[in-house]
Order: sequence, then C-alpha cells, then structure tokens
Amino acid sequence: MSTILPARHQVPLPLDRIILRDSPGAEAIEMDVVIVGGGPAGLACAIELAGLVKRDQESGGGMPDVGIAVLEKAGSLGEHNLSGAVVNPRAMRELFPDRAPSDFPFRQPVAGEAVYFMTEGRAQRLPTPPTMHNAGYYTASICEIVRWLGERAEELGVNLFAGFPVDALLVEGSAVRGVRTTPSGLTRDGGRTGDYTEPTDLTARVTVLAEGTRGLLTQAWRQWQQVGSQNPSLFALGVKEVWESARPLDRVIHTLGWPLPHDAFGGSFFYPLGERQVAIGLVVGLDYHEAALDVHDLLQRFKLHPLIRPYLDGGQLLEWGAKTIPEGGYYALPERRCGDGVLVTGDAAGFVDVPSLKGIHYAMQSGIYAARAIFEGLKRGDTSRSGLAAYDRMVDESYIVADLHRTRNMRLAFKDGLYVGGFKAGLMTLTSGRFPSARIEMPEDAATPRHVAPAEPMAPDGKLTVGKLDAVFKSGNATRDTIPSHLLVGPDVSAEVADFYSHLCPAGVYERVGDELRVNPPNCVDCKATDVLGPRWTPREGGSGPKYRLM
Ligand SMILES: Cc1cc2nc3c(=O)[nH]c(=O)nc-3n(C[C@H](O)[C@H](O)[C@H](O)COP(=O)(O)OP(=O)(O)OC[C@H]3O[C@@H](n4cnc5c(N)ncnc54)[C@H](O)[C@@H]3O)c2cc1C
Ligand code: SF4
Repeated sequence: MSTILPARHQVPLPLDRIILRDSPGAEAIEMDVVIVGGGPAGLACAIELAGLVKRDQESGGGMPDVGIAVLEKAGSLGEHNLSGAVVNPRAMRELFPDRAPSDFPFRQPVAGEAVYFMTEGRAQRLPTPPTMHNAGYYTASICEIVRWLGERAEELGVNLFAGFPVDALLVEGSAVRGVRTTPSGLTRDGGRTGDYTEPTDLTARVTVLAEGTRGLLTQAWRQWQQVGSQNPSLFALGVKEVWESARPLDRVIHTLGWPLPHDAFGGSFFYPLGERQVAIGLVVGLDYHEAALDVHDLLQRFKLHPLIRPYLDGGQLLEWGAKTIPEGGYYALPERRCGDGVLVTGDAAGFVDVPSLKGIHYAMQSGIYAARAIFEGLKRGDTSRSGLAAYDRMVDESYIVADLHRTRNMRLAFKDGLYVGGFKAGLMTLTSGRFPSARIEMPEDAATPRHVAPAEPMAPDGKLTVGKLDAVFKSGNATRDTIPSHLLVGPDVSAEVADFYSHLCPAGVYERVGDELRVNPPNCVDCKATDVLGPRWTPREGGSGPKYRLM
C-alpha cells in the first residue's frame, strides 16, 4: 500500500511576506493598541482595556485616551466565527460583573447531557466522563456572542474595522510596531480592478494577535522570534451544521466511535439551540491515517444514524461551516506568549481544553489578562517584552493553564487509537492527570503518513445529506470569482496527493481532474485544514469567505 507524507508537499511559511521591516506608509493610521481578530479573545481584550482606561480617567488616575482598533477579516463581525457551542460563562461574568446571566447572548442553559459510543446502527450510552460535565453552562451561537461583544466594544469607543484582514506585521528590531492590511480589488493575475484599494498601515505600541486557530501571523512571529513549545501544535477539523429541527432536543449529546475509524481521534456534538434549532458537528484529529478520510462526508453519514435522524428528517439545513481547533493542549503552548510590542491570545496561543471541547472562555479570559497587562504597560510607558510580561504570569497562574495541565496527556494518548487511548484517558481522569508522569511526545500532524486506498464516496440526497458545493452555498460564501488565489500550493502534487487534498478540504476547493490538481480558491471557508496538512492559507481581500450567522 502506498503512503503520502503531507509535510513533503508543503511550502514553507512565507516569512519575508509576513514579517516586514518596512517603515509604515505616510498615510499610516496611528493607534495605541491594534488587535488582530474580532473573535471572543480580541473583543474581550478590547472591552476590558477600554473599560480600564475609562475607569482610570473617571477616578482621576491620569491615563490619557488610548486608541484601540480591532481588525477583522470578515465583512461583518461574527461571519468568520464557528464553534459548538456549549459555553462556560466564567469569563463573560468576569468581563461584565454588573450584568445578569440573562443579559448574555446565550440560547439556553444546559438542561441534561448524554455521551454515547456509536456503531453503525446502535448507540450505547456511557457514563459522562468528568471532563464532559456541562451543568451550569449554556448553549450558544458564537456568531451571536461575537456580534453582541462587538456592540459592547463600540459603546466603549473601540474602533472596529470589519473587512480588514491583516497581511503582515510591521517590525523594527525585535519589536512589532503595527500591521499592514491586505489590498482589495485585485484581478486573478494580480492586476487592479476599478475598486482597487491599497493596503493600510496601522501603527501601535502593542499589537494583540487574536487571530484564532492556526494563526498565520502567530506562526510567523513564533518562527521569527524562535518561540518554541515542548510538543508541536496539533489540530482537528470540525465540520458543523445548524438545522431547524423536526423535534426539540432536550440534552447536550456527545458521541465517540462510528463513523470514525478506530485509529482516528474525534467525536461528534449535538446541541439544542432553543426550541427549534440544533447544532450538529463532527470533529476529527488531523493526525488521522487514511488519506481518503473526509470529515464532511463522515458528518453526512453520521446524520443518518437512528439516534440523530429523527431530529433532522423533515427539518431544514440552515447553515453549514468548518473550522480547525488547536488540540495540542498544555505541552503545545508557546513557551512565551508575549514579546516586544506583541501578545498572543486565545486559539492563536492554543488555549483549548480538548477533552471538554472548550475554548471560548479561555479565549476571553486570555483577552482580559492581555488588556490588564497592556494597561499597566501603557501607564508605565513600557510595552517591551518585560513591560508586558505580566500577561504570561497571569495566564500561567490562572485556571487556563491549570485546566490544560490537568488534561495534558489526554489528547496525546489517542495517538495509539481509540481503545488504547480511551483506556489511558480513563486512568488520567482517575489520577487527575498524574498518569502517565511523562509527556507523551507527538510529531506534527503533517509528519503522520497517510495510507492510500480507494475511497467510497457517498451520494448526498440533497435534503438530509449535502455535497460540498451545496454546503459552501449554505455557508453564505459569496467570494468574488475573479479574486487572486490566496492558497500556496507546494511542489510534487501527484494524483494521489490531489485526491488527499480533495478529501481533506471540506469546502471542495481542491479537485483531482485527470491526474492534475484543480484549485477553486473562492470556495475557501478559511477553516485552515490544508494550512496544517497541505497548501498554505494566506489572507485575501476583506469580506471574502463565509458569512456565518448562526454558527
Ligand atoms: C467545531 C468546533 C466546536 C467547538 N466547540 C466549542 C464549545 O462547545 N465550547 C467552547 O468553549 N469552545 C468550543 N470551540 C472552541 C472555540 O470556538 C474557540 O476556542 C474560540 O472561538 C477561540 O476564540 P478566538 O477569539 O481565539 O478565535 P476565533 O473565534 O477563531 O476568532 C478569531 C478571529 O480572527 C479573525 N482573523 C483571523 N486571521 C485574521 C487576519 N489575518 N486579519 C484579521 N482578522 C483575522 C477571524 O476571522 C476570527 O473572527 C469549538 C471550536 C470548533 C471549531
Ligand atoms: S482551502 Fe480553505 S476551506 Fe479548504 S481546507 Fe484549506 S482553508 Fe479550509
């Protein structure tokens, strides 16, 4: 049987394009703090910082006005955010201590939960592992959370620039001094349309990287500044749908087993979003072994299971989307998350607890800590690495790192497959993470060989199950067809590798035509899966990509 080693076919990170030693342009916008990414991490940072400045000024603390900008690549806030989501409200309460939980943009409290081990026709209920207890939490749409946070930020005078992807960091010595946005209005071959807009430079005393999973700027900053970690970052791909359901779902459901092969790590989630809607998704670790594994396809099969189907049959698919999740956990955290003029927050830093599938409150909490460190740094006039080091200290002493430490080897145990991994994870739970005492070493996802075998594609029925092109339509993606490609394809793409990419990408961006790879960049929904295992993703014209409303 032949194998593919994904790393062999990848291009290196285009560091010279992302780390720019140029002086800012004459028209540069001067800010004090620039936040890249309007997700939970970036917006929590902006809200906390604006609040600290306001309270300081009101109490006569003497803090001058602070210009805060959030740059978001989506055309409008929330359109590029995707989560489960069951939310731990802890960070929301800390950010808004004067508000009641009923003010928060959640859909409903978690009223019950169940975990199942699935085979093709059956579902065996399992005791809920402690890491998966969700009592006291809420189901929610992250798009709604993000839109609501955006309104709170705007009320505090934060400048929100949606439709402005950041292309590069402007640097001087070892310090980040600001950012440059992508141009828009280019033709496929790089010419200018009538709508061409130049890149914009923004200067800042502190730049906060809150760009989410597999952040391009964070990868570049870490490589440039040689910020390592004990294990490499690992990722999973989640494909999700929101349905108007045929009947109400009264519990939060998680499943293990079918339709995943035994040697892949992952599972499903099935959440109620009020009386009439449900969220269903499948998450698979990107260190899977079969080149033909296709997460979108597996989710379509999963919906036909007798446990799930009765909720969807007669209902309606409202929205579809996909996104990667950083899964490396404690051992993959960057050894530092601050540098001269820069901080890394949320998923960009890998603050996700995989066994509980939680990242939103860690992202928000890290944004809050970043704001507090920036406020102190600005007050002292010191935004160097040591001036911002309080951020790393706060994160290290917080529940973020404590939680990730408790589950430090759980995801890693599953590199030996579901049964061995499940057994080891059970022992880890019993010993509060003390077994095994040593770190389980992991290769990066792209270093795992993939076995090539013929695929058995499923034929979608267009109602309960959908193909990739219909799915992309349901993501709201309306990217201009004539846009230049933002995907950097590596050398030696054989027919087998083309097949591998076509299964890997949930949005049908890659196709094998004859023995060649055909790329359809406008379909891309920015999930970043191929950035992990195949062609590199780079930012493109603002407002491109999905237009999620319910994810
Ligand atoms: C399928 C799935 C299920 C999940 N389920 C749960 C759950 O149930 N509960 C939970 O707590 N967590 C869950 N998570 C994790 C959670 O969604 C994340 O941890 C959280 O969203 C991270 O927030 P963030 O702000 O760091 O990143 P994001 O939410 O990804 O926000 C980053 C923002 O930065 C923007 N951006 C990226 N690059 C650029 C650029 N170059 N220029 C400008 N903007 C940029 C993006 O468009 C995005 O809006 C899930 C994740 C997935 C994928
Ligand atoms: S091409 Fe886009 S949609 Fe496809 S896997 Fe890569 S990032 Fe995701």
